[in-house]
Amino acid sequence: MRRMPMKMVRKHSISRTTASPRLRGHIYSEHWDLTHLAESPVERFERLLDEIESKVMRFESARAHLSAAMPTSVFHSLLTLSEEVTTASSRISAFAYLWFSENTKDLDARSFKTKVEERVTALQNRMVFFDLWWQSVDESNAQRLMAETGTLRYHLETIRRFKPHTLSELEEKIINIKNVTGRNAVHSLYDVVTNSFMFTLTINGKRKTITREELTAYLRHAQGRIREAAYRELYRVYADHHDLLGEIYKTLVNDWKTENLQVRRFVSPIATRNLGNDIPDAAVTSLLKVCRNNAGIFQDYFRIKARLCNITPMSRYHIYAPHRTHQKSYRYQDAVKMVLDAYRGFSPQLADLAEQVIHEHHIDARTRPGKLGGAYCYSVAPGMTPYILMNFTGEARDIATMAHELGHAIHGMLAAHHSIFTFHSTLPLAETASVFGERILSDALMNQEQDKKVRQGLLLNQLDDIYATVLRQAYFVQFENQAHEMIAQGATVKDLAKTYLAEVRQQFGKGIKVPDEFQWEWLTIPHIFASPFYCYAYSFGNLLVLALYRMYQKEGTAFIPKYLNLLSTGGSEAPQTILTKIGVDMASEEFWQSGFDTIRGMVDQLEHTL
Ligand SMILES: [Zn+2]
Repeated sequence: MRRMPMKMVRKHSISRTTASPRLRGHIYSEHWDLTHLAESPVERFERLLDEIESKVMRFESARAHLSAAMPTSVFHSLLTLSEEVTTASSRISAFAYLWFSENTKDLDARSFKTKVEERVTALQNRMVFFDLWWQSVDESNAQRLMAETGTLRYHLETIRRFKPHTLSELEEKIINIKNVTGRNAVHSLYDVVTNSFMFTLTINGKRKTITREELTAYLRHAQGRIREAAYRELYRVYADHHDLLGEIYKTLVNDWKTENLQVRRFVSPIATRNLGNDIPDAAVTSLLKVCRNNAGIFQDYFRIKARLCNITPMSRYHIYAPHRTHQKSYRYQDAVKMVLDAYRGFSPQLADLAEQVIHEHHIDARTRPGKLGGAYCYSVAPGMTPYILMNFTGEARDIATMAHELGHAIHGMLAAHHSIFTFHSTLPLAETASVFGERILSDALMNQEQDKKVRQGLLLNQLDDIYATVLRQAYFVQFENQAHEMIAQGATVKDLAKTYLAEVRQQFGKGIKVPDEFQWEWLTIPHIFASPFYCYAYSFGNLLVLALYRMYQKEGTAFIPKYLNLLSTGGSEAPQTILTKIGVDMASEEFWQSGFDTIRGMVDQLEHTL
């Protein structure tokens, strides 16, 4: 079966040419079929690229005729051309990436991926002039040209959103040139230095020299002694370099201030990020404030966890301690059935879409040597069933991952009637369907599960994840707010570390000891260096879902059509517009609080299992 016609997906009346897999005795394929992306793309590479390039050339030839006064029909035909180029590029890029993911050691796949990336980037660069021109169009002509662009409108608005903070073409060019040897160079210094770090740890009497990635696995080790040693070693190495890393950070923060506040006239350092996310400053302020107010919920949680996992005294070393229950192992076929059943219990429509992904062989499930780690969902183009990669080993966590990635796929499929530029959800809403899917699954499992220990394990896994994606990330951003302010006032690296430690101690409260070396934790977080204020998007996305789930629990089935409608908007409207339609005011503290009420409910549930 090839590409699904858009309308079919949109209406969810998915006709099957073969019997439903559920009727065939639960035989679900574990391998994906990449032929749906492109027919023999390796052999036909030059031809495929030539086809794209001929379109790019047509697009370029319009450059001379660009003018604010141009007829809408010409403008629209250019947009269509650019959609076609992007769709074709996306298909070949997806093939290259998915093939590489199957076996990252495969030299043919690796060189093909590099080749595709180089060629596609070069073609895309040839089209950038259009965006720059579009930013320069005056407001009344822009409104005229956007009038009948339908689902593309938000994409066009997004390009123009930065206009008030955009400088002249020459100034932008100079900033770009100087960034290469300026902030980009300083940032890659951080990568170069930290990637070369090696750590030594004694395991079973043997001294081992290991990388950061290997060390990180020990932070979740079953033995408390080893978790503690791993944290101490991590911060010992970073503390040894605090002078250099601190200087790098201060330089990046000063550069951010000079460019964004002084030159581009943003009102605050975080406002730059907020505009990129298209989230009002007030909403982010509310979110961060509510997170801070609710730190106590996680303090309670970690106290309960300490009792369940026999940890005394509880300290920051042990918050990710694994739960010591007998590990239940699941067969892949059963896992698929559990996920589909859970989705079906919420909405048969969502279950059908999830089943379509599996049925069309768009999932690569098993872990294999050489295969890319982790999991992802790749929504290639509107109307094409998304692809999912995961590393299924049979653990409970893998089932949650499957529900998560299928959620992403469903999100893309429900939004298939939008343009390639607007069917992907925007960043703040990107985790909505995925995390919601996990909630649906875990509720279904909790309702079925009688074994107390297994129930505890399920809750502990989820609450650990929620802590790491909601509260921890919000505290990073709160620290960044303070750090940017402090650096502007001339603070030293040690001042920053002191402030950081005070923040973490406030976060964990009196019951959970935070040893001194955690003052260096912020130096170990790449996002703080690479993308200032980025991390709140995680808190936003995850807490949003918990709040939406609260709405579902209160409203019952009445909530479902509203939720499906939200997903089907994809990225075709501003996050605020999308959320207002479902009755959410993201600037209101009560809304974010309701997300924490869901978390509180889970902590109470856990307490009842004691
Ligand atoms: Zn995700």
